[in-house]
Amino acid sequence: MADIPANVKTAITALKRNNMYATYVATAAEVPAAVKALLNEGDTVAVGGSVTLEQTGVLDLLRNGDYRFLDRYTEGLTRDETEDIFRQSFFADVYLSSSNAVTLHGELYNVDGNSNRIAAIAYGPKSVILVVGVQKLVPDLESAVERVKTTAAPKNAARLSCDTFCAKNGTCAGTEGGMTLGCGTDARICCNYLVSAKQRRKDRIKVIFVGEPVGY
Ligand code: SF4
Repeated sequence: MADIPANVKTAITALKRNNMYATYVATAAEVPAAVKALLNEGDTVAVGGSVTLEQTGVLDLLRNGDYRFLDRYTEGLTRDETEDIFRQSFFADVYLSSSNAVTLHGELYNVDGNSNRIAAIAYGPKSVILVVGVQKLVPDLESAVERVKTTAAPKNAARLSCDTFCAKNGTCAGTEGGMTLGCGTDARICCNYLVSAKQRRKDRIKVIFVGEPVGY
């Protein structure tokens, strides 16, 4: 295995202590093989909305491998059909996504608008694989909250053309005074907040750190 940066080593140790599997690959190009090693032929697989999975070639792996992929990105899906895939995803063998932030204490921090992603991370799919660029590693939950407000949410809101304060200004409307402070628009993408700490089911959640900045 490649030389692992010290902060990633710390996070891997903490995640393992919290009953999560964790590993590291140095480059984005190594991600598909690392994911494939955690899948079984014939698995039903589903994904949360994730730039990381697209950038690292994981979506291509799922589309071209021997898996039953509940592909939310299939062209021509109606909103009802997409929502149906979100619900089917709770019964998937494996759910793949990224995480908005991971702390050195081994916590995952995720914020959603629609919230199908954080629901599936918390419960449902038998296995959850999270591909995380090392730029998402933060010291603690306070920094994780700040990271979402100043980096992840503004970039995602802009990408999704959401009419929010952060999409226009590059930062949240409520950066001081509390995790849930923010904009008041119906387009808000920060509606539910999930912290994943010590897990009961050992290794259900698996984190693959990538030594290159991938995703937001
Ligand atoms: S609460 Fe609103 S302004 Fe703040 S990050 Fe979320 S979507 Fe953007």
